[in-house]
Amino acid sequence: MEDCIFCKIIKREVPSSIVYEDGEIIAFRDVNPMAPVHILVIPKKHISSLVDLEKDDELLIGKIYTVINKIAKQEGIDEKGFRVIVNCGEDGGQEVKHLHFHILGGKKLGVKICG
Ligand code: AMP
Ligand code: ZN
Repeated sequence: MEDCIFCKIIKREVPSSIVYEDGEIIAFRDVNPMAPVHILVIPKKHISSLVDLEKDDELLIGKIYTVINKIAKQEGIDEKGFRVIVNCGEDGGQEVKHLHFHILGGKKLGVKICG
């Protein structure tokens, strides 16, 4: 995906602060953080959004949650807690069309839309 900013981060064509990387997944700090800890976890495979997931991606998504668990511990937010958000499509407010999981923590988070 030539014009995808996150694909460019994966290829090191755009700088970022990477906190985790393996063969399939990369995580980096959000450039416009909404909390003291704001990290984006993404698959290296370009998947545009949650609605573009395929059956074959099930294992990958499970791995992403294991990486989120690891990063939460690495960042020291595992005990006090954090939030994971996936924005999808126009109504969901998705700006970057490469599937990403926001990890937000490091403070008491406001505005719960659900729950
Ligand atoms: P979303 O609204 O869910 O699509 O979130 C996209 C997120 O990507 C926003 O929080 C942006 O601040 C973040 N973002 C956009 N460009 C970059 C970049 N080059 N490096 C890190 N984060 C970025
Ligand atoms: Zn991409």
